[in-house]
Amino acid sequence: MSKNLLEGIGCSNGIGIAKTFLLVKPKIDVNDKKHLIDAKKALALLDRAIETSIKQLEQIRSITLEKLGTEKAEIFDAHMQLVNDVEIIKQIKDQITEKQVNLVQLIDTVFNNYAKIFKSMDDPYFKERATDVIDVKERLLANVLDLKIPDLLSINEPTILVCYELTPSDTALLNKQFIKGIASEIGERTSHSAIMARSLEIPAVFGIKNLFNHIKANITIAIDGKNGIVDLKPIIETWNEKLSKYEAEQNELKKYAKLKTETLDGVKVKIEANIGNPTDMTKAINYGPEGVGLYRSEFLYMSNSNWPSEEEQFIGYKSVLEQQPNELIVIRTLDIGGDKKLAYYTFPEEMNPFLGYRAIRFCLANLDIFKTQIRALLRASIYGKLGIMFPMIAIVDEFKKAKDFVLQTKKELEKEGKKVAKDIQIGMMVEIPAAAALSDMFAIHADFFSIGTNDLIQYTFACDRMSKTVSYLYQPNNPALLRMVNMTINGANKHKKWVGMCGEMAGDILSIPLLLGMGLHAFSMSATAIPMARKIINSLNQSECKVLAEKTLQLQTMDEVNDLVKAFLKKKKLI
Ligand code: PEP
Ligand code: MG
Repeated sequence: MSKNLLEGIGCSNGIGIAKTFLLVKPKIDVNDKKHLIDAKKALALLDRAIETSIKQLEQIRSITLEKLGTEKAEIFDAHMQLVNDVEIIKQIKDQITEKQVNLVQLIDTVFNNYAKIFKSMDDPYFKERATDVIDVKERLLANVLDLKIPDLLSINEPTILVCYELTPSDTALLNKQFIKGIASEIGERTSHSAIMARSLEIPAVFGIKNLFNHIKANITIAIDGKNGIVDLKPIIETWNEKLSKYEAEQNELKKYAKLKTETLDGVKVKIEANIGNPTDMTKAINYGPEGVGLYRSEFLYMSNSNWPSEEEQFIGYKSVLEQQPNELIVIRTLDIGGDKKLAYYTFPEEMNPFLGYRAIRFCLANLDIFKTQIRALLRASIYGKLGIMFPMIAIVDEFKKAKDFVLQTKKELEKEGKKVAKDIQIGMMVEIPAAAALSDMFAIHADFFSIGTNDLIQYTFACDRMSKTVSYLYQPNNPALLRMVNMTINGANKHKKWVGMCGEMAGDILSIPLLLGMGLHAFSMSATAIPMARKIINSLNQSECKVLAEKTLQLQTMDEVNDLVKAFLKKKKLI
């Protein structure tokens, strides 16, 4: 590969050509002796840094107000208050008594002490203030030292974002109008940032080794989000051709957005969308989903500055249900923890957060937070066909407890005179091997299963879905995983329950024939993947896929499985 080309993992399809913006958070050694300055200068520098910070925050506030609304904009009101807080500033100034002072260290200590006080409080609202204090401190320090702070909200021209690692909350702030691509050192196809990039339809290449050694700010580069390529010296004409070709292919596929999903031998399955918010749904509709198989409700929690209220959640759920009132909309209850953190809540320190206090475990331990969400869901249920789904169910008791809590909350609402739909389905994710193994028992209680392969794969192979070093073990089409899927479908069939899949595997061309063959009823995926998946399913006979799937269940390796599927699809001229 030419030295102008960098390789990574293609995480979100599409072609992007634009100038780079380096998202680098400044690192500051507060104890460095070079920060020692004259007291008078320190006082003047502090005043100037406060003034600059307020100006920056005013600008961010107005951009946020325009793009994301009042509530998000209020975060920056709070930041402005903090940077100008009389008590905090007095504490700093009172310590500028010596001839020579380290202003950087003083600011750091005073703000850290404030953050610590907030962090130690039990109330999530006050805990959240700690994150704000640290954010403001970093801004103030950068301004004292004249360091540039990268600011995602202020990007207002075509840009390719280059970063070390993009957090899911960074991704939530990206604006597709200006962000033409993302190149990142860290990240995998199944990381939440990648999933969000796909739903935002921003081309993304993650996992590029030593990216910052190769790239500079403000140079034009091109990225190919399907093949995982970054071109540092793009020939614009060639890349524009690639862009046009990509757009033409997308147009050809669009005809499948208008069809229903049905195999050549007449088996009807559903292809649904994975979404993160009502706006995703509006965009997803263009790709022809037959309902929603996964609404990741945690995105609202993650982009908020505090726990979202019942009303705020109700509005979001209602909006999605109303957009497809005749199709099933499966909303997953809060799946927080692991790599999905909240600015306003500090999770306990754990050695393995992915195996720890998260998702349904967190909700069942915090019933007040859970109740708010369940009330909002039940109230929204009358606007369409609702499925409520619990994440990370490991044992039957958890499912029964969560389901009972929903039924009890329903009674409460009805007592209050609020309407709740009669036909709500209550199901669960199968993403822990224990749930797959005992699926026939879970199926006694659950109305449906949705197989979450993103996690099921990581737990089956004991392989962190975010890790680069063990990514070779992340094997969707390994017969071991296929057997888990098959076992789950058989367990559900025993009790005449339906099974969907909402992990990334559901949209993978090399897995679709096998899933179809095993009898999966619903495939839920990023909206952009729907037309291609429908083209594949509508071009196949399920009976042939069944024979293929049975063969692969008897193989030893993923490569053997993939070779068989590729040969099968090639024969059908589908690849
Ligand atoms: C999964 O684990 O497959 C899944 C869909 O959930 P998430 O990716 O949000 O963990
Ligand atoms: Mg999961």
